[in-house]
Amino acid sequence: MKSKLKQLLAPKFTRRDFVKSSSALGSLAAVAGSMSLPFKSNPALAASEPASPQSEEKVVWSACTVNCGSRCPLRMHVADGEIKWVETDNTGDDTYGSHQIRACLRGRSMRRRVYNPDRLKYPMKRVGKRGEGKFKRITWEEAYDDIANSLNRIRKEYGSEAIYLNYGTGTLGGTVTKSWPPGGTLIARLMNLTGGYLNHYGDYSTAQIAAGLNYTYGGWANNNSFSDLENTKLIVQFGNNPAETRMSGGGLIHHLMESKARSNARMIMIDPRYTDTAGGREDQWIPIRPGTDAALVAAIAHVLITENMVDQPFLDTYCVGYDAKTLPASAPANSDYKSYILGQGEDGIEKTPQWASPITGIPVDIIVKLAREIGQAKPCAIFQGWGLQRTANGELASRAIAMLALLTGNVGINGGGTGARESDYNIPFVRFPIPENPVKTAISMFLWTDAIIRGPEMTATRDGVRGKDKLDVPIKFIWNYAGNCLVNQHSDINRTHEILQDDKACEMIVVIDNHMTSSAKYADIVLPDLTTSEQADFCMDGKAANMPYFIYADKAIEPQFESKGIYEICTELAKRLGVEQAFTEGRDQEGWLRHLYQLTREKDPSLPDFETVRKQGIVKRRDPNGHYVAYKAFREDPLNNPLSTPSGKIEIYSERLAEIAKEWELPEGDVIHPLPIYASTAEGWDDPARSQFPLQLTGFHYKSRCHSTYGNVDILKEAARQEMWINPMDADSRGIKNGDLIRIFNDRGEVHINAKVTPRMMPGVVALGEGAWYAPDGKKVDHGGCINVLTTQRPSPLAKGNPQHTNLVEVQLVQKA
Ligand code: SF4
Repeated sequence: MKSKLKQLLAPKFTRRDFVKSSSALGSLAAVAGSMSLPFKSNPALAASEPASPQSEEKVVWSACTVNCGSRCPLRMHVADGEIKWVETDNTGDDTYGSHQIRACLRGRSMRRRVYNPDRLKYPMKRVGKRGEGKFKRITWEEAYDDIANSLNRIRKEYGSEAIYLNYGTGTLGGTVTKSWPPGGTLIARLMNLTGGYLNHYGDYSTAQIAAGLNYTYGGWANNNSFSDLENTKLIVQFGNNPAETRMSGGGLIHHLMESKARSNARMIMIDPRYTDTAGGREDQWIPIRPGTDAALVAAIAHVLITENMVDQPFLDTYCVGYDAKTLPASAPANSDYKSYILGQGEDGIEKTPQWASPITGIPVDIIVKLAREIGQAKPCAIFQGWGLQRTANGELASRAIAMLALLTGNVGINGGGTGARESDYNIPFVRFPIPENPVKTAISMFLWTDAIIRGPEMTATRDGVRGKDKLDVPIKFIWNYAGNCLVNQHSDINRTHEILQDDKACEMIVVIDNHMTSSAKYADIVLPDLTTSEQADFCMDGKAANMPYFIYADKAIEPQFESKGIYEICTELAKRLGVEQAFTEGRDQEGWLRHLYQLTREKDPSLPDFETVRKQGIVKRRDPNGHYVAYKAFREDPLNNPLSTPSGKIEIYSERLAEIAKEWELPEGDVIHPLPIYASTAEGWDDPARSQFPLQLTGFHYKSRCHSTYGNVDILKEAARQEMWINPMDADSRGIKNGDLIRIFNDRGEVHINAKVTPRMMPGVVALGEGAWYAPDGKKVDHGGCINVLTTQRPSPLAKGNPQHTNLVEVQLVQKA
């Protein structure tokens, strides 16, 4: 049976079928598109090789380490030095709790990322304008010398604050290879040994929720693990979509469904798009306009308060600022949450369901029923995903959703939750040591383009500069390792293009990656990186609810073409910068893996030894406490287990935010507020600009890619096509039918893509999966379906984060299908 399956899954192509030339990318792309052939490092040899019997197949444990939130083991079947096919975890008896961590369709197509026609083959230097994609081949020695000389010159001329590590999460799971957080990367280690660099804070996934809920709970806000849903009565999910994001078979969607089946809890999904996580498993889908979640929460709070369903003892004991009783002395009268909801606060507006209905697009009776369900279910689990906080008022929205957990006293108990995204139990792993950065300045990860063009104008109170009152110098050197945020994943691509094309502004861009991404096209020097299949690393932080694990991702094949790994690249640069010994400490990559694992085992002697882990590939654990319950200790004994907020309690009213609101300079319309209020925003549902651009455009994480990773894999593109989702009513009024070619446009740009006409999208809102590869036609029209041609660079008020789901657009028919 197994051999039959293997036969069916094995590739049908022989070496003779492989691409015979590696010189012309265009023809290769055409070949790949039509025949889906692997792309090999030594095609001439492959073509001339006699059709000899295959050498014995070996199975090598590897991993998918991208930034989807899961980490999946891959078992590479290798023969003749080539990955023939890919399977996934085969350990465990596959009953829930001992189940296999099965990779999704993306990880299973890893072979097509490794043998992809877009693979970077050797170091290259730009010869055309940035973004044109014109390069000449250079040697590694030339590349290292160029980079080292440039670093030395820029440091001397501008100082270390001019060197920036751009956001990149292409290899998030690795120990040696990890590309984020910037301060945890090997490039940071190298930079810190030679003078430091300008750091960034925040990330494109969670900037607003991390900033917002920090003021509520103190630090990163946790929630109960999904496995704990077996103890709940009602699940309410705001914009949470693990089925399309963290879709590993051992991952969150599996835990959600299995634990829900055990509790038989109702599940209500609140989202403008009917997601695959709903997918027939939900009991109710409530479509909501993007950017209005806080208004819905306020109206639910109104019902809870006026119908006496609030957990007053919980609010009195654990929270600050629900009503006058717990309002800090510094706060003005009637500035508590209850007064805000009942219309006794500064705006004088009662937040009734009738008030919220025209804002959210949700009928009054549905709001009232939802509120009563939340108020009566004991316990009730409130979750939010990260999409809804990626908006212009995302800090307020994320804090507002937490209010439902607080008003109903569900924090710190089994079956309850905090309103944040779900958390997991983790196996601690010792990280690569990074010396302290001598440069203390940091900017929001979203404002690096601003730091290129107006760095010295950027201040702490206007632009969120941290560590100093202002930046002294603009960014002059960018490291872009395993990331596509230089172009593809950063907002307002046409603006970014203009900024990057000026090579007198940012003078040096080094991109290290596997493929010729749109970001790599803007490099001055581009270096070909190894894939996870070509080097060994630990893939740590594998976690799913109460079942954590880590993977030893071994080297399955030899490096393709002239690719080199980040450790070797940084070591060679360290040599030229005079810090080789300090950088390597006398170890090679495997030496570091052994060393870091040894340190990890010293903290946890129950872990198997290095050789055993290498052989067995994956180490799984169970949460010894059964399920993770966030803030359990605080709930049980708040005096002895205070939170890290200034009061030690949950802060509904934040004095620190009240101070920031007074001190910071904000553009017209931006709101920072001590309470989790609803605030309308630029490009929201009520912006007058809707007369010109009447549709709200939201992004979503699409199952054919992890952000932009895997975005160039042919079979994934076919399996889940890039389309813009639009409701039949909006399509009809524009003469658009399913499959028609349309143009999506606003003042920032234009995208041409096919329409998916579906009632899974609420009227007035359209959606485009993020991460599609930008494919401009030279006339500023993108034909790849890249949402960031249309998204805004205006940052959110508090986090200075990316509001990539707050956009207004219009849509028109281009061509009938
Ligand atoms: S994309 Fe995520 S879920 Fe899919 S295989 Fe990779 S780590 Fe697993």
